[in-house]
Amino acid sequence: MDFNLSQEQKMLQEAVIKFVLKEWEPNTQEIDESNKFHMWLWRRFRDLSWCGMMIPKEYGGAGMTLLDTCIALESMVHAGGDVGTTLGLATHLSIGSIPLLVCGNDEQKKRFLPKIATGEWQSCFMLTEPNVGSDATGVETVAVREGDGYILNGTKTFITNAPTADVGMIMASTDRSKGAKGLTAFMIDMRAPGVKVGPSFDKIGPRGSEQAEVYLENVKVPLKDRILEEGDGFIKVGVQNLEYERSCLTSIWTGLLGYNIDLAVKYAKERKQFGNPIIQYAQIRDRIAQMQIEYDICKLLMYRAASKKDAGEQAPLEATEFKVYVGQCGMRSAMEAMQIFGGYGLIKEYKIERSLRDAKLAQLGAGTEQVLMEIIARMVTGTRSLTI
Ligand SMILES: Cc1cc2nc3c(=O)[nH]c(=O)nc-3n(C[C@H](O)[C@H](O)[C@H](O)COP(=O)(O)OP(=O)(O)OC[C@H]3O[C@@H](n4cnc5c(N)ncnc54)[C@H](O)[C@@H]3O)c2cc1C
Repeated sequence: MDFNLSQEQKMLQEAVIKFVLKEWEPNTQEIDESNKFHMWLWRRFRDLSWCGMMIPKEYGGAGMTLLDTCIALESMVHAGGDVGTTLGLATHLSIGSIPLLVCGNDEQKKRFLPKIATGEWQSCFMLTEPNVGSDATGVETVAVREGDGYILNGTKTFITNAPTADVGMIMASTDRSKGAKGLTAFMIDMRAPGVKVGPSFDKIGPRGSEQAEVYLENVKVPLKDRILEEGDGFIKVGVQNLEYERSCLTSIWTGLLGYNIDLAVKYAKERKQFGNPIIQYAQIRDRIAQMQIEYDICKLLMYRAASKKDAGEQAPLEATEFKVYVGQCGMRSAMEAMQIFGGYGLIKEYKIERSLRDAKLAQLGAGTEQVLMEIIARMVTGTRSLTI
């Protein structure tokens, strides 16, 4: 097992850090206050060819591995890029592109992937609905076959990038009597007649990404935009996607652990009480040491899950463990870092309180902590092979 980064990975990491420090980090307070995904950053991601990291070169992407992508996303947040903007990018890179890459036919890949890879089209993934959260098999959005296509009706919610996305993959039921086996995936144009996006939710974090409801009223989708067959949406498209989604998105919060340590150490070296910098006090040092141990474990879990996927193997346990543990460490790390800042931890100008607001989503999105713990328990005890 080689834990060293390759020369290419080191160069990617350096490029990311340089960009974040110079152009992105100085604007993070403003981004957070705006509660908006900033399109100027998206345009910079396009200039840097970061919108198609995992899309093969033949479709205009960078042809990077999942591990390369995780390293890049981790480095963005570690260096000070905000979690929200990174979430918008990572959503496009993972759930917005990979299901199409893995399950789309040649014609669909040629039609969609080149524009997604260059960032000309931003993408999103629409599964969650007002009545359908953890139990994703109960999707109420329906797709009814009509002529040479389908008519879609329903409401999706919490859709990351919905207000800015050009295209999206959507899960709809083509046979509600079959539950999960009746779900079908489609690509839709976010500006097609009948598609309406609601206002962005005002959340505590991560505020640099936008989520909204998407309303579908008699939206016509041609047959050529159906992914695989009717009934393949959950079992094939959804499950294929999950390990990429969990690894890719979780690498964002792994970066947040590194960011919290950097800020806490810097502050503890500068802040003096009782005549000494507080970094000299054992209780401060213990907290920093614990944060570092957890950060390193999370990075190892990231390398393991992503490397296994890159080797062409399934990694449901590895990706799920990675997600749950980073979610738990993220909250702890933000709390400990704020404690080191004392009262200043609550003041926005010190930039650490945002970590606590941004950390919580890692325990909620892409499978809540409780649901993922149950999935891990089932895999470990062999009660059911489940990878929802
Ligand atoms: C910022 C953000 C971005 C998101 N982006 C997207 C996106 O791009 N696309 C998309 O489709 N969705 C997205 N989501 C939706 C997200 O995946 C859901 O919020 C998540 O799946 C949980 O669903 P829910 O919020 O409805 O909670 P619920 O499922 O209603 O859960 C409520 C509580 O009950 C618990 N619970 C539920 N079932 C069980 C059980 N069987 N055992 C024990 N406890 C249980 C949960 O753990 C939770 O604590 C996003 C959400 C957020 C907040």
